[in-house]
Amino acid sequence: MTVEAPPDADLLIVGAGAKAAAIAAKVHVLNELGLGPLEVTIVERAEPAASWLGRNGMTSGEEPLAIPPIKDVGFPYQSHHQFGEAGDAIDAALLPFSWQRHATERGEYGAWVNAGSPSVRHRDYGGYLSWVLERATEGVRLLRGRVEAVTIEDDPECWEIAVAERGDPGDPERHRGGALLLTGPGVHRALPHDPTVAGRIFHCDSHRSEFARIEAGAEVEIAILGGGESALSALVFLRAFRPRARITVFTPMLPISRGESFLENRVFADPDCVAWERLDQATRRDFVKHADRGVFDAGTIASLAGDERASFELGRALHAGAGAASALALEYEGPEGVVAREFDHLVNCTGFDLLAQLRELFPDRVRALVEREVGPIWGDVPPGTEVPIGRALELRGFSPRLHIPGLGGLSQGPGFANLGCLGLTANRVLQPLLPALAADRLAVRAESQ
Ligand SMILES: Cc1cc2nc3c(=O)[nH]c(=O)nc-3n(C[C@H](O)[C@H](O)[C@H](O)COP(=O)(O)OP(=O)(O)OC[C@H]3O[C@@H](n4cnc5c(N)ncnc54)[C@H](O)[C@@H]3O)c2cc1C
Repeated sequence: MTVEAPPDADLLIVGAGAKAAAIAAKVHVLNELGLGPLEVTIVERAEPAASWLGRNGMTSGEEPLAIPPIKDVGFPYQSHHQFGEAGDAIDAALLPFSWQRHATERGEYGAWVNAGSPSVRHRDYGGYLSWVLERATEGVRLLRGRVEAVTIEDDPECWEIAVAERGDPGDPERHRGGALLLTGPGVHRALPHDPTVAGRIFHCDSHRSEFARIEAGAEVEIAILGGGESALSALVFLRAFRPRARITVFTPMLPISRGESFLENRVFADPDCVAWERLDQATRRDFVKHADRGVFDAGTIASLAGDERASFELGRALHAGAGAASALALEYEGPEGVVAREFDHLVNCTGFDLLAQLRELFPDRVRALVEREVGPIWGDVPPGTEVPIGRALELRGFSPRLHIPGLGGLSQGPGFANLGCLGLTANRVLQPLLPALAADRLAVRAESQ
């Protein structure tokens, strides 16, 4: 049987997670309102919302989401900023995709609000995203398979992706699109270590089932490296999974929790309100460090207060090697200089590297093409260099458009690298595909001046 080649899409998305759900819902609504037509193809290697459901990796699903779910796929519902007069209709049409609607359909909304809108678990959030992806159908195609390579072939204005079906990596299916969007946090940052201790080291993206290697019922010593959300997520998981373990969290700076006042939140939801792009790099970096990357969620930390088996130490990890008394020795730079301490296991949550993931997906030829157009990205990059990300969360200066919202936190606003403004992320990505609406927005703005 010959399978017909699927039609080309305006946008290809690698990964059916939070960002894909937000874009799919927006595409569905734009098409329903007659503002399209738009065609988006989403390719997912595991299952929709795989990162959150607890069956596929970095979470058991039980850990608390560090963002209120009302920051749903339409948030902040201010589409008039991107789409002028059509914006309000777009936001109204998105309400059937809201967290409120999802919880209401399940009969859970009233009880959740009455309980003070508590944090939800990763798996609840994953359930919501899957529900969105099931309903967002107009112009949206969701395919199962792993994107193995991203190339530009005969047509220089088109991306081509090679998708391997699960269990059949030999004969990838090819799909072409006018733009490409990469999702997900990336792969873990490397931690220098001796090969002999590799089996004792876990990472922020280690499958939760791998932690079964930690001896059950024993008073093992575990070090978690990192001062952000994935370190906290690992701590919460291990606290429940191995209650007798002693866990030391090493943070590179004194640990602090995230401020979530109106002042910080508005920057995540609407970076233009502080003219983010015009702020100097040091100010932007400082905000991202203190409001997103290097901070713990205060509510989750509160649940660990008084836990004598969990402690926090100041130290920047340098290397892990074989230990004398225990399985491994962690060398780190602390207030007293470089010292070593022994542990049975170590969890490396020092951060994700999205560029490393892109390196795996892009063949040498495409990487060279990208670097020729936009400057060094993977090679010798001078310290402090920013990846040039434009307003559509695209790699600035490269055609066909390559959207990498996960790299847009520093240049475009802190919410683009996480779940802080999924509705705005979708608008920014889709805006170049809707030039008529963009012109309308400019007309509205000109009238109001
Ligand atoms: C443990 C953890 C907890 C977090 N908690 C929060 C939080 O509380 N609040 C917050 O704002 N942010 C949080 N984040 C950050 C969050 O991951 C980012 O916000 C992320 O960008 C989420 O949206 P996404 O759509 O980019 O990725 P995801 O929702 O992770 O989706 C990516 C998808 O891509 C798929 N995929 C990957 N590679 C391929 C491939 N080659 N082919 C096909 N499919 C592929 C994956 O299976 C996955 O389904 C957390 C991150 C982690 C790791």
